[in-house]
Amino acid sequence: MQYDNNNVFAKLLRGELSCKKVYEDDEVLAFYDIHPKAPIHVLVIPKGPFCSYHEFISRNSPEQIGQYFKVVAQIAEQLGCSDHGYRLVINQGEDGGQEVPHFHTHILAGKSLAS
Ligand code: AMP
Repeated sequence: MQYDNNNVFAKLLRGELSCKKVYEDDEVLAFYDIHPKAPIHVLVIPKGPFCSYHEFISRNSPEQIGQYFKVVAQIAEQLGCSDHGYRLVINQGEDGGQEVPHFHTHILAGKSLAS
């Protein structure tokens, strides 16, 4: 799949759209979801042009992948949700319900998500 430079997260990364930033380093940006599905709902995106989880995994080394998920855990800690817990969600592709074609991990927290 060809990366779409006009997807909404690409625009956020270029600063063409604003977001409520939670964390940023050279590789990763994290920001609050515009339509939160929990009291805390943050999206963590790599800065590279990866359409999906599958592409992110295919095109990065185990070290790079591990570093990304370490940062996801650090952000959860920074948000203060490590003690009570949180849910990570990655939607992959059309059947997975992925709407934005730039890989992202959802961090959902702030209430019990047990069903
Ligand atoms: P997904 O269905 O996994 O692709 O999730 C995409 C998420 O991006 C949804 O939860 C949207 O609410 C969120 N979203 C879309 N546009 C923006 C935006 N401009 N700022 C923050 N979150 C957004």
